Amino acid sequence: MIKQVGIVGAGQMGGGIAQVCAVSGFKVVLHDISADRVEAALHLVGDNLDRQIAKNRIDASLREEALARIHTGLSLGDLADCDLVIEAATEDETLKTKIFKDISPLLKPEALLASNTSSISITRLAAATDRPEKFMGVHFMNPVPVMQLVELIRGIATDDATFEVVQQFAVSLNKTTAIAEDFPAFIVNRILMPMINEAIYTLYEGVGNVEAIDTAMRLGANHPMGPLTLADFIGLDTCLAIMQVLYDGLADSKYRPCPLLVKYVEAGWLGRKTGRGFYDYRREDSPVPTR
Ligand code: NAD
Repeated sequence: MIKQVGIVGAGQMGGGIAQVCAVSGFKVVLHDISADRVEAALHLVGDNLDRQIAKNRIDASLREEALARIHTGLSLGDLADCDLVIEAATEDETLKTKIFKDISPLLKPEALLASNTSSISITRLAAATDRPEKFMGVHFMNPVPVMQLVELIRGIATDDATFEVVQQFAVSLNKTTAIAEDFPAFIVNRILMPMINEAIYTLYEGVGNVEAIDTAMRLGANHPMGPLTLADFIGLDTCLAIMQVLYDGLADSKYRPCPLLVKYVEAGWLGRKTGRGFYDYRREDSPVPTR
């Protein structure tokens, strides 16, 4: 039975996961290597809940209750009492593997471990832990409080009991689950990310500018958001990391990351989270295309 959830990584995703868990009554311990990120995540959770109160979606009392359920910890040891730990750190296999190696011996033997990875092999990450049978992929979508889906991925060793408890947990957050096999980028990003990468090639080759590409896909394909706006929203470092996992894992040149995506990431233009990507968000009024 899950009562306390640990979250490793307090970025866009970790903060959102903390919010939905706390609102649904779970105790949360939110950990990051950066105290600033933890602080910013708590702030954002408070602001999000304020907005939901203003829209009459939640009761004002729930805000204080939910915030009181979120504890923070700057050491992995602070997650020792958690029943489930969800890793939501940067999309980098070496970094995630180290987190799982370091945290495993600190947890209760019965604790479950999960990764929010967008693309990396669940079986390989599980192998870095002392409990591959109690490990699986729990892939939330961004923004977590808004998006309905949680993709569930079993590793080769994940046992049925773990899968059922985690699926039940996702349902208790009012999410709908879809089950994916453990192949690079699973379902959502196997389909979404090549589309975003193709949009960046379309920009790179000069077929259209940022505005034309986004308008074309919004109004021509009825997508709620253009692919370049969406890429900025996801984070261009995350997009590149996912394309690299697809390219390496499936060994097909159709997944080659666009050189322009690589260039933006090298420049540190990672999208909304750094203030600039395919759009410049540093001006208050409206985002300005950067190409
Ligand atoms: P982000 O850059 O906003 O946050 C990553 C956080 O991880 C940062 O706060 C960083 O300080 C922290 N971190 C880095 N190394 C750490 C360590 N060793 N220990 C603890 N914390 C560490 O990234 P994000 O968008 O929140 O993505 C996080 C994960 O969620 C990635 O695996 C990503 O693929 C996945 N994901 C992202 C999206 C999306 O749309 N952005 C959607 C679904 C899943």
